[in-house]
Amino acid sequence: MTARLIDGKGIAETLREEVKQNVIKRASQGLPAPGLATVIVGDNPASKVYVRMKHKACQEAGILSIGHALPAETSQEEVEKLIGELNNDPKIHGILIQLPLSAGLDEESVLNAIKLRKDVDGFHPINIGRLAQKGREPLFTPATPSGIMYLLEEAGAQLEGAKAVVLGRSNIVGMPVSLLLIKANSTVTICHSRTIDIPSLTRKADVLIAAVGIPEFVRGDWIKPGAIVIDVGVNRVEDETRKRGYRLVGDVAFEEAREVAGAITPVPGGVGPMTIAMLLRNTLRAARLADEDIVV
Ligand code: NAP
Repeated sequence: MTARLIDGKGIAETLREEVKQNVIKRASQGLPAPGLATVIVGDNPASKVYVRMKHKACQEAGILSIGHALPAETSQEEVEKLIGELNNDPKIHGILIQLPLSAGLDEESVLNAIKLRKDVDGFHPINIGRLAQKGREPLFTPATPSGIMYLLEEAGAQLEGAKAVVLGRSNIVGMPVSLLLIKANSTVTICHSRTIDIPSLTRKADVLIAAVGIPEFVRGDWIKPGAIVIDVGVNRVEDETRKRGYRLVGDVAFEEAREVAGAITPVPGGVGPMTIAMLLRNTLRAARLADEDIVV
């Protein structure tokens, strides 16, 4: 069997175009452009790249984006003061704190300072708490996990009653995607660095999400024939044949996996592009919440 490719790049482009058309429609109705503020503390080079990509995507979609780059030594009070100002700025509908914060800052307290209806990254403790509770709905869900769920839907995954295995339990990917899968009525097994005999668990999975950050961790014979495999990993491996000296691979051994799986995301071009598309969608939603003046 050769797996169907789940084209995250193409799906994300369609979503971004949809957001753009909605922003144009807002303008024609006299409504303001959605506004996103990003906050980055310190000099993490990867964070800078991600933030730049987010601003570029906003620009292309007609979303106003304003960046705040703070030095690594910025105090907790200063970061939270800025968030307070952004909370009260009517041009700003969404606030994104680029994680990780520099050492010494209390991440939970910073995230808690964001006004709930501006929490477009979905990491506010109340939004995450609602995600974890039955019968409650968060205002926003985190971008990468939401993108994964969107891809599963596009791939035609029958989530209700499905056995889903999630590799990784991080706050950013593994745990929230597990919670979303539970909300979708899958039966979820979460694996992490202390899990014993992971292959025996993944071989039972109808849906397999790999988010561990280890190149080609999941081998072909770990996968149930016909399973839907979502590879979240983005790992650099040395490759002298490439001009830049490396190539990107996922957490799944792609060539082996595609012989067994029913559908699979490539790396790059799978989950990665969805993350930004979902952030844009969330920012548009935040602007709509402000239109309706929903106070939460
Ligand atoms: P992370 O915070 O480092 O978490 C990694 C998770 O994998 C942890 O839960 C860890 O377990 C688990 N793990 C580590 N070694 C393991 C092993 N040998 N066996 C089983 N589990 C193991 O990483 P993350 O932020 O979730 O990111 C995961 C991957 O996704 C990375 O490659 C990252 O670059 C990528 N990513 C991609 C996007 C995107 O937009 N495409 C977004 C975010 C992340 P413990 O909890 O026990 O330590």
